[in-house]
Amino acid sequence: MQEWEPYVQYGMLRVRETSCCGEYEWCCEGGLYFVLRRNGEGYEATPRSRYAQARPVWEALIRNHRHTSQRQRDGKPTSSGCDRARPSAGKS
Ligand SMILES: [Zn+2]
Repeated sequence: MQEWEPYVQYGMLRVRETSCCGEYEWCCEGGLYFVLRRNGEGYEATPRSRYAQARPVWEALIRNHRHTSQRQRDGKPTSSGCDRARPSAGKS
């Protein structure tokens, strides 16, 4: 399981990417990378690390995340952007 810790901002936060439905954000802060997610009223983050270590965490999260109905807008099914996150080839 991925470990999450309460997010505390240390420096200039830059959001580089957002998952298809906005659940996760790929962030860089002070040269270290991590994934940010909303948790109720606050935020949680994965441990900060170098790009090469943090990137697989991000990719696994966006590949595996579920689209919950409460995040859908206007009652529409998941937007076409979400198709991006599905693995296009390989194991299934
Ligand atoms: Zn999504």
